[in-house]
Amino acid sequence: MPRLILDPGHGGYDPGAIGPTGLQEKNISLDIAKRCGKILSYNNIDVAYTRETDIYMGLSERTNLANKDGADYFISIHINSAESAEANGTESFALSIGGEGQKLAECVQKSLVENITLADRGVKFANFAVLRKTDMPAMLVEVCFISNPLEEVLLRSSLFLDKVAEGIAKGFLNFIGQEFRSKNSNVESNKQNNDNNPKNIPESPTVNLRQGIQWTKDDGKNELPFFMEDEENKKTAEREEEKSEDFKISQDTEKVEENKEEKIIIEDKIIKDLRYFQEKLQSLETEFDAIRDNLDKYRDNIYLSFKELLEAVEDRDDLKVELRDTKNELDFYMYILNNIKDTVKKV
Ligand SMILES: [Zn+2]
Repeated sequence: MPRLILDPGHGGYDPGAIGPTGLQEKNISLDIAKRCGKILSYNNIDVAYTRETDIYMGLSERTNLANKDGADYFISIHINSAESAEANGTESFALSIGGEGQKLAECVQKSLVENITLADRGVKFANFAVLRKTDMPAMLVEVCFISNPLEEVLLRSSLFLDKVAEGIAKGFLNFIGQEFRSKNSNVESNKQNNDNNPKNIPESPTVNLRQGIQWTKDDGKNELPFFMEDEENKKTAEREEEKSEDFKISQDTEKVEENKEEKIIIEDKIIKDLRYFQEKLQSLETEFDAIRDNLDKYRDNIYLSFKELLEAVEDRDDLKVELRDTKNELDFYMYILNNIKDTVKKV
């Protein structure tokens, strides 16, 4: 498993660059690193950090830590800043031309720009300590400009930070030649497998009470047994069926029979309900997938529109505030929509 060290810039008494409304680089770099680490962890990358809290760390401390750790790769995360409020866009740094660091920087730069659609300032070379003193391929990314009022607005958006983290993660995976898997891709690919192998779905699906209860206990984490597709699961289900059959046969007093009948009626009803909800859930999932696809498509354009609008009302502080509020609201709804599917699943 490849080991990557993520290095969130600055920290503690060193805030890094500070935006026009007081946003501090040290907090954003740490936030992005953690989001990125999470994404890479479920992509089977062994992720470590130079700092995970708001503490000060010298540059040599960071590189010593990485070298002692024996990590394979090193990515330092920063937010850019400039005298001019106009400066904007994404740039990445490597130590020298032709090294692995350059390849890594190019992969991350490309993927990040694609993901957040800000200006592409390209890959540059610099004699930064974190690049010079690290023993492994290393790069430093300057996500965007905290000194630019419009980009500072973006940095306050949780969704934007997710996009940044995903962009960096995708770039790194691309560099090591590993395919990116989104958090939901397991579920997606299972669904596809079912579609591709309809013969694996039993013709008249059955689910017994115990399996249904277990499914509820697991918060719906596991597919209901009638979607079981591999042989072993099928056999387990059959064995369970047999066991409960044996159980029925061994009990033969009238009272037990009566209870059993009652139990079967309840069981039938629960099975019916479960199937009904399963169908509902599936149609909801399809709907939400469609909504989310559309949102993804328009989200980047919406951010760009906000950028343009903010530029247009540059002299109107009252309108700027209103726009920011609107955007925060939009962020909130996007967040809710993105989570509705998971929420429905848990219910
Ligand atoms: Zn910095």
